[in-house]
Amino acid sequence: MRNGPHDDAAEGEGLPLDLTGMLEPGIPSDPKRGIYVNRNLNMAKIAAVGFDMDYTVAPYDQPAMNELSVRATLEKLIRDRGYPEELRSVRLDPAFIIRGLAVDKEEGNIFKMDCHRHVGRCYHGYRPVPDQRRRELYGTKAIKFGSGERFAWIDTLFSLPEATMLAGIIEHWEGQGRRMPWTYRQLFDDIRASIDEAHRDNSMKREIVAHLPQFIERDPDLPPTLHKLRSAGKKLFLLTNSEFAYTQAVMSYLLDGALPRYRSWHQYFDAVVVSAAKPAFFTGDAPFQLLDADGHPVGQPKTLERGRVYAGGNVRDFERMAELTGDRILYVGDHIYGDILRSKKSSIWRTALIIQEMEEAIQLGAEHREALHRIQQLEDAVIKLDQEINYHLTLVKSLARLEVLTGPEAVVIESTREQARKKVERKRALLRQTLQELEALEGTTDAHFNPYWGRLFREENERSQFGGQVEDFADVYTSRVSNFLAYSPVQYFRAPRDVMPHERG
Ligand SMILES: [Mg+2]
Repeated sequence: MRNGPHDDAAEGEGLPLDLTGMLEPGIPSDPKRGIYVNRNLNMAKIAAVGFDMDYTVAPYDQPAMNELSVRATLEKLIRDRGYPEELRSVRLDPAFIIRGLAVDKEEGNIFKMDCHRHVGRCYHGYRPVPDQRRRELYGTKAIKFGSGERFAWIDTLFSLPEATMLAGIIEHWEGQGRRMPWTYRQLFDDIRASIDEAHRDNSMKREIVAHLPQFIERDPDLPPTLHKLRSAGKKLFLLTNSEFAYTQAVMSYLLDGALPRYRSWHQYFDAVVVSAAKPAFFTGDAPFQLLDADGHPVGQPKTLERGRVYAGGNVRDFERMAELTGDRILYVGDHIYGDILRSKKSSIWRTALIIQEMEEAIQLGAEHREALHRIQQLEDAVIKLDQEINYHLTLVKSLARLEVLTGPEAVVIESTREQARKKVERKRALLRQTLQELEALEGTTDAHFNPYWGRLFREENERSQFGGQVEDFADVYTSRVSNFLAYSPVQYFRAPRDVMPHERG
């Protein structure tokens, strides 16, 4: 019998602990709303919880954002950079781009890597690059990212449209057998510069602010989540790269008037930092600026006060003025590099990564559970068959060395060798069959997740580069901030016991 969470009085003494009953309170029943744990995180030890804004407390509608970015970028390419009107008729497939892809600016290819940086699936325009060519290009060199490098890393949801546009434009020209009038690098750099400009010059923000419900999802569970954390004595802070006016508009849309105790969104937070310039916030020493009610700087603060808004700053001053040490701060963000990796490497903030794609990934995982299970079985079978083939091959070779023998021993040896040879043949046939089934099943299953790229967190039988980074840098990860609502504010998030391959039974 399963015990409900409040039935413990009925339990006798000295009975074995019923864990099913104890695990129930505070664990959401829907796995899509779960918080997943890479490293133990004891919320009782966390004194302050900080939040990024864009794509973290403010979940954007990705199709609407893609459409807006593409429109703004095309405008700038055509009007300011002399690109032809024909660009408007390019067919863009939004399904083509997922997070965690890389762009080869020299070849115009887009590819997905596994966590060891091996290049897996690879496309030129919307057409797959043949395996042979892919190996020639990427089989022997390390893939490096960074400014001035040949490869660009698509790691934020903001950056998806630039890769979509690159692929679409290449396909548009080369699919018709024409040569593009620009190099791939020039095209990509111009697209990226145009998108950056559209973000910087407020043309996109103006449109978002004018139609907030179209672009940002107002999550009814967000205000009670923040309230619950505050009620448990945690300090909350907002740390965003967005500037004052935009932050003000988005946050008041999300929170103002949602709960009777909080008239304005400011009341949820003990400190608000805008224009934070992450990741430089975590590595640099820019001073904080106190802003007045209109967002104008009015000097450098000595302390951080509730109800005030600050701009810029750096992690050391923040910890000093907030009287907090890094291990007591949990920072929640969506950007692996800017929010998570830097805060971990330069400071020791604990990290929660928001991955809004997870809800769909988990949903699809559940729908295709049987196929995914079968894929796992087939992968295990391949490993086992490989080992068996090696064993029998070694046997055949060792027996061959005994060929000098004559008489009855030679007959026995010959027949043993023959048997081993037959086994090798049978196992090889079985291996071929298994690999065929594996490849076919992986193909059809992956297509349900994404027709071009398969699963976000996997590449072939490894974690994807994105999946690997999530594992390396995020202490916990989840689809939305309000998933914390189902858990206790003193929850001990425990990681599954980490087992290395040699320790598995
Ligand atoms: Mg963000």
